[in-house]
Amino acid sequence: MTSNEKRVLTIDDDGAACRTIDLVARTAGFEARSTSDATEFFRLVEDWQPTHLVLDLVMPGLDGVDVLHRLAEMGTDAQVIVTSGHGQRVAEAARRVARELSLASPGILPKPFSASLLRRLLHEDEGVSPCANAGSGRFLAITAADINSGLERREFVAHYQPKIDCATERIVGFEALARWDHPEVGVVFPDSFIRQAEDGDLINALSEQVAESALAWFGRTFAPHGLELALNFSGRAVSDPGLADAMSSLCTRYGVCETQIVLEVTETYAMADPTAALALLTRFRIRGFQLAIDDFGIGYSSLAQLARLPFSELKVDRSFVASARTSEESRKIVAALISLSHSLGLRVAAEGVEDGETLAILRDLGCHHAQGYFIGRPMGPEETRIWVENKLAPGQAINGRP
Ligand code: C2E
Ligand code: MG
Ligand code: MG
Repeated sequence: MTSNEKRVLTIDDDGAACRTIDLVARTAGFEARSTSDATEFFRLVEDWQPTHLVLDLVMPGLDGVDVLHRLAEMGTDAQVIVTSGHGQRVAEAARRVARELSLASPGILPKPFSASLLRRLLHEDEGVSPCANAGSGRFLAITAADINSGLERREFVAHYQPKIDCATERIVGFEALARWDHPEVGVVFPDSFIRQAEDGDLINALSEQVAESALAWFGRTFAPHGLELALNFSGRAVSDPGLADAMSSLCTRYGVCETQIVLEVTETYAMADPTAALALLTRFRIRGFQLAIDDFGIGYSSLAQLARLPFSELKVDRSFVASARTSEESRKIVAALISLSHSLGLRVAAEGVEDGETLAILRDLGCHHAQGYFIGRPMGPEETRIWVENKLAPGQAINGRP
């Protein structure tokens, strides 16, 4: 693994832009280098291993989309910040290309630069995979055997991110996010092990371990207050015919009512085989579990299929929410998804709320629930309990209940 130092590498044909970015990055505690030469840029990506890349999309003789493809081929873990003087729409489109190529991209930096936006983007990578470049397994190659050992030692746990009601700003519950409490590496994030667990046929065991840890904590601490706990399941785990029974047993064991549990599955899963999903998901609903369609808006849903499937909640993907304040296009998409949810009778939640202005926009648009760094980052169980206590005024009860 590399050291924890942060390194920014910029490619831009405008020397003044390079100097500005280098200066802002250095004052933010980063090492910084810049170049206008593509060969030099790719050499530095290999040799210097930057943690952040600032990429000017339009340079003479160089196509920014080609650069993104090359970076994806190289398997870089760096956070890619796209900059462009050709308008926000082009930069946002390029960022979508980056995401589809599985590159991490905390945001776009429209020209002329705002130093504060650049500083914010440079500190934005936690949601992706902060575990010392563990993201692609380039520095920390995680195998199925490693995961198996972690499962045997019961090292897979959950961290919790609070969710609030947009109108009242009261806590409504938490989303449990898997974390691997690794004895040598520290906390490992799901981007580094979920896919490997699926490939190694370990996802069911892993999902159960995380669910058990979350339900035990939630049942003990918060279930009596009527809050909700959301759990993420990949398609492979949801397709396990034993999961509904296993989840009901856990609810009984830890004194949690099924209606307090929200199972989150991604839009991609739901749409891959809607006929199979219909039967599987209905079984959960019959037992009382709530179902959320996660990361909505980035897949290719058929609205007819969405209406047929028994979801109770739609979670707007954080890529639209995080940019709703600055991008008119994103704001319109968020508004349309909220309105669609209302007309389908679904609860709608927004994830990736990073500032108060975005929360106000969501409230005005009629969004029901919100979560994001502005409200609270994912936290360990004890930290979450303290966070909830501190949020409450003396004498106030969670969710207004005694
Ligand atoms: P997700 O379910 O969409 O979870 C939200 C992710 O966004 C979390 O990343 C969270 O830390 C991050 N996030 C929350 N608020 C913000 C914000 O304001 N800004 C930004 N930039 N990011 C924010 P995390 O914990 O790394 O999880 C990534 C994904 O891994 C999850 O996306 C989910 O799809 C998957 N995952 C997590 N836990 C499990 C699990 O137990 N089982 C399965 N199958 N997948 C899981
Ligand atoms: Mg989720
Ligand atoms: Mg999501």
